[in-house]
Amino acid sequence: MTSRDIWLERFAGMRQWRRGKERAPHKPLLVLLALGDLHRSHGRLHSFVDIDERLGELLRRFGPPTKPSPQYPFVRLTGDLVWETPRIDECRSRESNTDPPRSALLEANIEGGFPLGLYELLIKDPALVTKITEDLLERNFPQSMHDEILDAVGLGDLSVRRKRRDPSFRPSVLLAYQERCAVCSLDTRLDGQPILIEAAHIMWHNMGGPDEVANGLALCVLHHKAFDRGAIGLTEDHRIVVSAHAIGGARHEKALVQFHGSKLHGPIDDADLPLPEHIQWHANQVFRGSARPL
Ligand SMILES: [Zn+2]
Repeated sequence: MTSRDIWLERFAGMRQWRRGKERAPHKPLLVLLALGDLHRSHGRLHSFVDIDERLGELLRRFGPPTKPSPQYPFVRLTGDLVWETPRIDECRSRESNTDPPRSALLEANIEGGFPLGLYELLIKDPALVTKITEDLLERNFPQSMHDEILDAVGLGDLSVRRKRRDPSFRPSVLLAYQERCAVCSLDTRLDGQPILIEAAHIMWHNMGGPDEVANGLALCVLHHKAFDRGAIGLTEDHRIVVSAHAIGGARHEKALVQFHGSKLHGPIDDADLPLPEHIQWHANQVFRGSARPL
């Protein structure tokens, strides 16, 4: 086993806090942020003061709709042996072995970064940066979010491979919904083929969501993105809801808000309707905050 393989294995085995099916993209986003900095020739260590703000912002944008806590991954990633926080003991109390609070990390200006051996290897081997990035994106986020995350961490110029999904998922979902968007019923075809309609997973595939029609929605590209980012959601009685946090002008009203409270353009067969357990997952883990009043 080469040292490259060992590092890859450590990233693959990174322990992520899991309660049921809750999303915990904290460590992956910290690693991506640090890889982006390294890509732009940042030094090995990052001050927590800097990470706190930037990772907090990434967690608000791409994390679950809970309060972001950038201090957890910054401290706990060391346990996966892919991160170091050299002076951390300065702010850890002697009696307890608990994580130092965010304020202590800020006050002591604690730094963290990849271990030297990994840092040097990443600089010598840009393909390793790409590989780790691909794996983290694939395991933690739907593909519709990958480009935005890459841009946000400064890895927008990396060419990452997209994994092929179960090839039957898209055609089955599109067929069930008669190739039209379940929100706006857009059904544009070019030379007989639908071109703006995609098959979305309600419960993300990388979170264990099955490749089944009852976990899918046919959505136009616009509503697919809005759904994956939590700007729109679904109620258990299959109504569209728009997040109160999604705001915009007249075009936004027309593209999203006008569908708030309206019934999903469902599949032809009721047996293919989205299952409550998948809708619930999306409502808790993806949908942003509260819905506008119905
Ligand atoms: Zn649509």
